[in-house]
Formats: sequence, structure tokens, C-alpha cells
Amino acid sequence: MKRGEIIAVGSELLIGGRLDTNSVFLSERLGALGVEVRFKSIVGDSEDDIVTVLTTAARRAEIVILTGGLGSTSDDCTRQAVARAVGRPLRRRAEAFAGMSARLAAWGRTPTVAQLRQTLIPSGADVLANPVGSAPGFSLQWNGSFIAALPGVPREADAMFDAAVVPHLVTVGTRDDRRIERRLLHTFGLFESEIDRQLSDLMKTYRSIELGLLASPLGVTIALTARAVPSRATPLDRLVQAVKRRLHRHVYAEGDQTMEDIVGRELAKQGLTLAVAESCTGGLIGHRLTQVPGSSRYFDRGVISYSNEAKHEVLGIPLALLRRHGAVSAHVAAAMAKGIRLKSHTDIGLSVTGIAGPGGGTVHKPVGLVYIGLNAKTSRRFFQDTLTEEFRFHGDRHSIKMRASQAALNMVRLWLKDMAIDRVHA
Ligand code: AMP
Ligand code: MG
Repeated sequence: MKRGEIIAVGSELLIGGRLDTNSVFLSERLGALGVEVRFKSIVGDSEDDIVTVLTTAARRAEIVILTGGLGSTSDDCTRQAVARAVGRPLRRRAEAFAGMSARLAAWGRTPTVAQLRQTLIPSGADVLANPVGSAPGFSLQWNGSFIAALPGVPREADAMFDAAVVPHLVTVGTRDDRRIERRLLHTFGLFESEIDRQLSDLMKTYRSIELGLLASPLGVTIALTARAVPSRATPLDRLVQAVKRRLHRHVYAEGDQTMEDIVGRELAKQGLTLAVAESCTGGLIGHRLTQVPGSSRYFDRGVISYSNEAKHEVLGIPLALLRRHGAVSAHVAAAMAKGIRLKSHTDIGLSVTGIAGPGGGTVHKPVGLVYIGLNAKTSRRFFQDTLTEEFRFHGDRHSIKMRASQAALNMVRLWLKDMAIDRVHA
């Protein structure tokens, strides 16, 4: 495989507060194209430092991708640094100017003097068009290395890589080389150690495939990576099927699909509608559901019933019930789910009530205690119309909210799955 290096430029990436995320998707895409990323560097907006890192990178790697520092402000100096490192002067380039003017004209603007600096490109370099922004990038060959400079804005770096860098990499001959193939399986409800144990014998029979487990509040993602040999299929797909059989209902999605995508797709397929009543998640479930385009087909409404009064007034939960069991209880979760379903006339009502912390916990009701409720209109014989489940999550306020929203959506997913199976047998 060809050797690759990524250089993220930007002082903000060094002083904290901002994370270099560009190199994450760049590594993935490069791997798929047959470039193995061996080093990543982060460097501030200093011309000397960029020259140093770039010179080292170009000695070690055949493909070097820089991101950031191509902006119009005076701190951005990637173009000057690359020009100096490779010993070529910066020249104003007509294609760069044309691309920038066209983009700005579409936004009803003309280039400023500062923006005109962005049309300076090292002589002999190819201008890389920016499909979503105004700043052009560029690429060049130097001492046997291919060097590309992309903008720092993640959306622009991403779009420019696909539109302008991939065609170059194909011509510099990475495609017929070996490449890295990766599959992702997203699970919920299992610890990393349990997954590791459940898959250990399988992984022994697929020695060429590397297993990675990535835990987050949304669950554990299983990353399966293979170094593919040209014209030979990897056993990745077979292993994916085996893992899915093994972990069964715990695998909720693959690749870049999210829990809300899967829940939405299944609701649409079954022609069912959903409304949510949220307490400790503060609207997060509604937000996640409505992140999916087309969600109006199945998502009716969300209510943030945070106080007891709201639970009583908006969802019709008797104050006596709230007093008797407390707002964080299975009884109240069930009543919230039923309340929101009846108010909204949907097929399914979903509810969450819990203690996100860091304060507010007691011995009997600790921080992280969350109840999820689901209420559905169903006349099926084997289906209960109300489900509740108790969870005890760990972590800070944000991750408890994330985990609770994921658990709630997962409950809907599993209910819909059983419903689909039941339909087949009915
Ligand atoms: P620049 O092109 O350096 O002006 O960067 C523009 C914006 O993109 C800034 O807000 C940066 O914080 C952001 N940015 C730059 N580099 C990266 C990176 N490697 N990962 C994520 N964001 C970045
Ligand atoms: Mg910058």
C-alpha cells in the first residue's frame, strides 16, 4: 500500500477547544483508496513549522494531505509554507479566481481584497475546485510525493477531497494497489468486554481481519478492518453476517446509519406514527428523530414535560400518581407514554423520565436512574400495550441524556421488530 500522511493546520487545534476531525474521515477515505495513513501531525499557523512538518512528511510518504490555513485571514499561511517548502513561487491563477468569483456571485457577493489572496497558488500546481465554498485548494507533485492542500472547514475539506483529490489519487495509481476495507456494526446494550468475549472464537477463524471496539454513549461500535489484496474479495461480508447472527438484536445499524434512521425507516415501512413525552432528555429524542429527512411522515410531536405540573397539565397524569411514585418511576413513565399517545392520536407514545445529575440523586433513586415507557395502540394477542424498562446509566449529564435517548429509540426499534415478525406469522 502507498504511505500517506495527514497534516492538520490551525493554531486553534493546538490550544484546546477544537478537535482535528478532518483527519478522521481523511484516513478512512485514504484507506479505502489504498493509502495507509502512517502519521498524522497537527501544526499551528506558523509558516516555519508547516515547512518543517511538510518536508518531513514528504520524505516519508507518497501522499501528503494538508487541511486548514487556506482562509483569507492574515493568520492563514499554508499556501506560503507549501510554496516555500517545495521551492515554487506563488502565482495568481485565473482558474482559482474564476471558481471563487462564480461561487461568491451565486451568494450575491464579489471577492474582497483579502479573498483575492486565496487565488495565489504555487506555480505548476493544479487548482482544486471547492464544490461548497469559495476557497480553492491545490495539489502538486514534489520529489515523488503527491501533496494536496485542502480548506479547514470540515464540509469543504470533505467535498473537495471527493471531487478533486480522489480523481488525482486514482491517476497516481493507488487503486490497483492493496486497500483498506472497513465495516462498522453499531450495537446497543452490551459492554465492550461482553462483545469481545462473544466474538473471540469467530475472530480466530478470521485471522486476517482486525477487530476494533469503540464505546460511546450511543453504544459500542464494532469496526472490522481488512487489508484487501487486489482482485480478491475479503471475507469481511461473511464475518459481518456471522457477527450479526451472534449478537442478534443488539446490532441496530451498519455503516453510517444511526438509530434514528433505523427507527424512522421501520415506522415509515409499517405506516405507524410516533409522539414522545420527554423529561430528563429535554427534547433530545425529538431532535434526533427530526434530524432524519422525511420524518414528518411518522413523527407527530414531542412534549418536554419537565415539571410535575407539565406532566399533569399536558399529559393528564394524575397528581396523586406523581406524589405516590415520584416523577422518576415506571408508573409515571407508563402514564407519560399513554398520555402523549392519547393526546396526539398516534400509534405509539414514547416517554423518558430520569435523573440526569449531577445533583438530585438519592439512595433509592441515584443519578442515572432512567425509566422509558412505550404505549401502543394494538389489538395483537401477544402484544402488551404498555412496556416500561428501568436503566441505570453512568457518566456525566450529557452522556446520561444521550444514553437515555438511545435506549428510548432502541425500545421503539425492538418493538417494531417484534411487530414485523408478528405480521409475518399472523
Ligand atoms: P481554516 O481553513 O484554517 O481557516 O479553518 C476554517 C475552520 O475550520 C476553522 O473554524 C477551524 O476551526 C476548522 N478546522 C480547521 N482545521 C480543522 C480540522 N483539521 N478538523 C476540524 N475542523 C477544522
Ligand atoms: Mg485556520
